[in-house]
Formats: sequence, C-alpha cells, structure tokens
Amino acid sequence: MGKITGFMEFERLEEGYRPVDERVKHYKEFVIGLDESQAKVQAARCMDCGTPFCNSGCPVNNIIPDFNDLVFRQDWKQALDTLHSTNNFPEFTGRICPAPCEAACTLNVNDDPVGIKSIEHAIIDRGWQEGWVVPQPAPVTRSPYLRRTIVWADYCAMAFLISRWKSITLIAVWSRCRPKV
Ligand code: SF4
Repeated sequence: MGKITGFMEFERLEEGYRPVDERVKHYKEFVIGLDESQAKVQAARCMDCGTPFCNSGCPVNNIIPDFNDLVFRQDWKQALDTLHSTNNFPEFTGRICPAPCEAACTLNVNDDPVGIKSIEHAIIDRGWQEGWVVPQPAPVTRSPYLRRTIVWADYCAMAFLISRWKSITLIAVWSRCRPKV
C-alpha cells in the first residue's frame, strides 16, 4: 500500500478529453491520460484492501492493488509485468473496458472509487513509450497442413462465390491474385 491516508487526502481525477470540435476532424487518440505524477496520486488512493473486491470485479482478475502500489512507487516496469500477468491487451481494456473493477472498489461504498482504469491506461502507455512492449507478430508457418487448409478454403470460397454471384470473371481474377501455396 503506497500511502495509508491517501484515500482521505486525494480526490479522484478523471482523464480529460480533447475538444469535440477538434477530435471530429481526425481519428487520433482523444483521451488525455494521466501523467506520471497524476497516476501516482491516483494510485495512492488505493487502500490495499484485505479482500480486494476490485480484483474479483475485474473480468480478467487483474491484480489491481499490486499494480496500484507499484505505480505509487513509480516502478512502472514491474507494474506493467503485473498487469500483463493477467491481461494481454491492456491497450484496449485501459481505454474501452466499462471498468466493473471500479464499481466493485471498496472506496466506491462512500466515496469515488480508485481510478483503476486510468491507472491501467497510464501503465500500458508508459510501457509502449519505454519500448517494453513490442509487436509480436505470429510466425509464418510452412506447415503443409496449413497450406492444404488454405487450398481447401480457396476452393470453398470459389464455390461460394460461383453459387452466389455466378461471376466466373471475378473468380478468375481473384484466384490469380492468390499467393502460390
Ligand atoms: S477495492 Fe479499491 S481500494 Fe480496495 S484494493 Fe481494490 S482498488 Fe484498492
């Protein structure tokens, strides 16, 4: 637990949003996440409950009190590892999850809950900034079984298109575009 009296000292801080008239002009990120010091203060609000209801409220059972504590201590790498131990796509959940963990947070009984989602968002963004998270494309397989599956799917798709649109020309063009297997 970062700060024993944190939940009494600090108010919940919501993430910001870029102005509507600006964000309707592009498809870039429009949520303004917490900066380092803001995330630290928000993490300090966590009471490290003996029974962390946030943890059971989270659909993937994120170990929330632990990463809150690590963010408070500014150990971002360990916080990221803790987050990744239960969640392999915090890039998404930190942005679009409805955050049932916050509804379950003990602090929500008589105060604003800990801003768990915004802390998660801050952790994963920090991970990308630091280069701790890198794309992991699936390896290209040369399995003969996969090739046979592709060929099979090719013929099924052709059969479907022929029956659906009766367009032999389209099929011929499409088939020539297929990579050789
Ligand atoms: S329920 Fe809320 S206060 Fe308790 S450990 Fe979880 S996040 Fe912290």
